[in-house]
Amino acid sequence: MTKTKIVIITLILLLIPISLAYWFLFEPVTEVDVVVIGAGAGGMSAALEAEKQGASVVLLEKMPYVGGNTVRATAGMNAVLTPQQKDRDIKDGKEIFLNDILESGHGLNSVEMIEVLIDHSADAINWLSDLGADLSDVGILAGHTKPRTHRPSGGQPIGNEVVKTLSSAIKKSNVDLKLEHKAIEIILDREGKAKEVKAIDKTGRVYTIRCKSVVIATGGFGGSSELFVYYNQNLKGYHTTNSPSATGDFIELAAQIDAQLTDMEYIQTHPTVSPRYGMLITEAIRGNGGILVNNQGVRFADEMKNRDYLSEVLLAQPDREVYLIFNENIRQTLAASDDYIDMNIILTSDTIEGLANKIRVDPSALSNTLDRYNSFIQRNNDKDFNRQSLNTPLSEGPFYAIQVIPGVHYCMGGVMINPQAQVIGDNDSPIPGLFAAGEATGGIHGLNRLGGNSLLDAIVYGRIAGENAATLQK
Ligand SMILES: Cc1cc2nc3c(=O)[nH]c(=O)nc-3n(C[C@H](O)[C@H](O)[C@H](O)COP(=O)(O)OP(=O)(O)OC[C@H]3O[C@@H](n4cnc5c(N)ncnc54)[C@H](O)[C@@H]3O)c2cc1C
Repeated sequence: MTKTKIVIITLILLLIPISLAYWFLFEPVTEVDVVVIGAGAGGMSAALEAEKQGASVVLLEKMPYVGGNTVRATAGMNAVLTPQQKDRDIKDGKEIFLNDILESGHGLNSVEMIEVLIDHSADAINWLSDLGADLSDVGILAGHTKPRTHRPSGGQPIGNEVVKTLSSAIKKSNVDLKLEHKAIEIILDREGKAKEVKAIDKTGRVYTIRCKSVVIATGGFGGSSELFVYYNQNLKGYHTTNSPSATGDFIELAAQIDAQLTDMEYIQTHPTVSPRYGMLITEAIRGNGGILVNNQGVRFADEMKNRDYLSEVLLAQPDREVYLIFNENIRQTLAASDDYIDMNIILTSDTIEGLANKIRVDPSALSNTLDRYNSFIQRNNDKDFNRQSLNTPLSEGPFYAIQVIPGVHYCMGGVMINPQAQVIGDNDSPIPGLFAAGEATGGIHGLNRLGGNSLLDAIVYGRIAGENAATLQK
């Protein structure tokens, strides 16, 4: 071996440990105006609004993809006084929406926070539509007194539409999206103002991002059975509809900086979850005419009642065995239901009797239940449970059944924010430079969130958080 070769090999051998040491010991430091943590509906909306205000923005996402729980949303997004409602001559109003939210939340919501939600709702729909989202269909969900749930035409799932729209806007913007970068710490300066975020990438390398403000938009904790059972012991053994990304990272981030948490024990179960795969069966099926029957083939509730009530009565049915029944006319209004066929969690038959045999309930009992329900539709009067939304008769086949059971669905609790989306500290004052939005926050939905209000919450407060993070940096 020549001398030169020996020198080269020695240099290489020396350089490897030096660069490895440099890689791990010296954290790369960057500087931006705003760091947004989490790329779901809340975080992407915040990042876009902050950028619109002229801020430089880093958007951290721990997963290899954006979308979190948002991409799973199916039924739609609520809003009042929208062009879509106007076109259909739907007589709705802010006061009616407010009452529905309070009724569902058992009055434990912050009225101030809900008013902001409602006031910005039509604007949120228009903003998404201007970005290219199709939100032309309007339906009604359980707990609502008016149709106000906006979704794509043909009843396609809303989540995919929202994520597609926001992520393509992010791609066109100057927002610096960093996938597989998990935020692990928020650091405040001596005056208690947010000044930097530490993030770790998939190789284990830690990054410091200095900034003027931070938005926490990390979603809820419904994907972690350990956490939901910790906050509510009754939920042991429950399935969850949530994404594995929903691991409550805001809890640790908030603890480091003395941010207040609120309503952590309020965890919503959704009454219609398939026991197979924990797949959520969209509320829109009931909204468009589906009914619930137990294994005696009889209805047991107004299917349009709130989620907490229905979950409770469903668990009181014999053997906890309940089926969601609908027909082809309903299926055709909701393209989202095709997923259930693809996943093989749906039973079908051309006749009611055939369906009853498949779900092993008495055919004459099920047939009587449907005849009685159809007669209620004809007279627009549900004598058994006073269901108000009586739209599609279940008279023509093919008929469908999906077995359902309550599953963990949504965390009403989270970081406490005010109407400016500022995070409130343990001293009851806003923490300067710190904002939060979406399912990582608490206090808005009370004891039980109204279906279709979470996307609204994430987008309305995400936009407010982003704008204020860029402008209110004191
Ligand atoms: C099956 C299902 C159906 C639903 N249907 C509807 C519906 O029809 N209408 C409705 O209004 N609501 C619905 N919801 C609720 C709604 O989808 C969510 O509550 C809402 O989208 C939450 O948005 P978000 O931006 O706050 O959180 P997410 O969308 O969950 O986004 C949070 C993001 O933060 C990332 N993240 C977490 N921790 C970190 C960290 N430390 N560092 C970096 N990134 C991090 C996550 O990976 C994730 O991408 C549904 C939920 C589910 C599960």
